[in-house]
Amino acid sequence: MADLLGLVTAVDVVSRELIPPFDNTAMDGFAVRSADVENPPSQLEIIETIAAGHVPRMVVGPGQASRIMTGALIPEGADAVVMVERTSVVDDQLTVEISVPVGNHVRPAGDDIGVDMLVFAGGTVLTAGHLGVLCSLGVTELLVYPRLRVGVMSTGDELVDDGSSLAPGQIRDSHRRTLLALLDELPVDAVDLGLIMDDEEAIEVALRRGATECDAILTSGGVSMGDFDYVKAVLDSIGDMRWMQVAIKPAKPLSFGLVGDVPVFGLPGNPVSSMVSYELFARPGLRAMQGHQDPVRPSVLAVAGEDLHRREDGKTQFLRVVATSEQGRYVVRSAGGQGSHMLRAMANANALAVVPDGDGISTGEDVEVLLLG
Ligand code: AMP
Ligand code: MG
Repeated sequence: MADLLGLVTAVDVVSRELIPPFDNTAMDGFAVRSADVENPPSQLEIIETIAAGHVPRMVVGPGQASRIMTGALIPEGADAVVMVERTSVVDDQLTVEISVPVGNHVRPAGDDIGVDMLVFAGGTVLTAGHLGVLCSLGVTELLVYPRLRVGVMSTGDELVDDGSSLAPGQIRDSHRRTLLALLDELPVDAVDLGLIMDDEEAIEVALRRGATECDAILTSGGVSMGDFDYVKAVLDSIGDMRWMQVAIKPAKPLSFGLVGDVPVFGLPGNPVSSMVSYELFARPGLRAMQGHQDPVRPSVLAVAGEDLHRREDGKTQFLRVVATSEQGRYVVRSAGGQGSHMLRAMANANALAVVPDGDGISTGEDVEVLLLG
């Protein structure tokens, strides 16, 4: 059942049971007959104590009351509950200080969910609360859109991933870790396909392995205009590929296509570009495959808390920003350096400001933002 968290229901959930399953008390107190407490204060005789999970043995007759704990069955004869705070007890004698209507503090059977009720429609994204409802209904199996297996590989001769000290020209592979973590939160089963050198044969082997083992693949690097950008070439030769340039910054280069029937998202190598490309293309694609009816990040109109600079370049820019809620509106400010290699600002950002072509947005102006999580 825990594995269902974040998955999407493929069918309606219809209840076969009542929730709550029986009339029970919402308060610690005394189960009484409403007619007995019409003229407070009323004196009643306490006949038993009923704990949650236990069945009452006595019927509450005229002039009687049963001590009762939250969640316990309402005993026969009683039609209301008086909270303990409005009573006092001396020996077995109860004094009730108030009058209460029939049904007072009683949670009737089926009050929340009735039999044959549509509890959640197909297409519901299962949250922690939904899992609780399914448990309370005794549902142990449910048809959901399958959890995808998604492979991740990085490519690049310059990359190191074993913690060793860097030789000249080398950098550490940061992006595979990031993509694997992004996938965890979807959720999908992320498969680490490793760090692959800039070598056509090695890339082909890794992609074929990924296409056999996984439902989708994310690659990073090797899709732009360099001499050793082989991912694009290999995808072209073994798959039905589309390589494109999208008029956005960062994340201009993008490869997308199918190897067999497995979609491959060829993300750019620059860490920020790669994350933005994942957010804009791969994540919505994967979520759509997992049954999400609304797979894209929510977009809201925010206010620029400072000038958001950019230059005119024919592209829509996605600036890394921090959005804070101020007086009921989101206000956004730059999260730091906006270079596509500056992963720190992306890590600190909680939103992307969608800044149209032009010379930026001035303080106080509206700006569309995509909220990241
Ligand atoms: P590429 O798209 O392969 O031309 O890579 C663009 C830039 O991103 C280069 O500066 C690479 O060194 C860098 N890069 C590529 N892959 C990674 C990675 N997995 N982690 C960190 N940086 C990377
Ligand atoms: Mg490269």
